Amino acid sequence: MEITYKFINHGIAYTYGNVIELNKNLLKYPKLMNEIIEHEKEHIKNNDNLFKDIITEIKDLCNFPKQRKLNKFIQECGETIGWESIRPIWIEKRGLVYNLPLICIYLIFALMGILISIII
Ligand SMILES: [Zn+2]
Repeated sequence: MEITYKFINHGIAYTYGNVIELNKNLLKYPKLMNEIIEHEKEHIKNNDNLFKDIITEIKDLCNFPKQRKLNKFIQECGETIGWESIRPIWIEKRGLVYNLPLICIYLIFALMGILISIII
């Protein structure tokens, strides 16, 4: 399967179809960029299977060495990332785009918050 890479001026990374979009500033962080590409390739392999995508996101959140590199990138290039990488839904030329795994993770956190507030 042929993957097309596009470098963009915003966000961190996005995948749709066989296209991976990457913030062009990631070129200055080759190790992190490779880890992000592996993560996005996993999304492509998941083939829109929501459960697998959520597992991919949780695995990523628990990859602390990668998260440390990502934090450094966000600190140094934050102004180019903006709030776009944490938005669950947005509109582009190709129409309404949504990040379903992210929506699910937000829902999981919201449910945890509700449960904790009930227990306490
Ligand atoms: Zn992801």
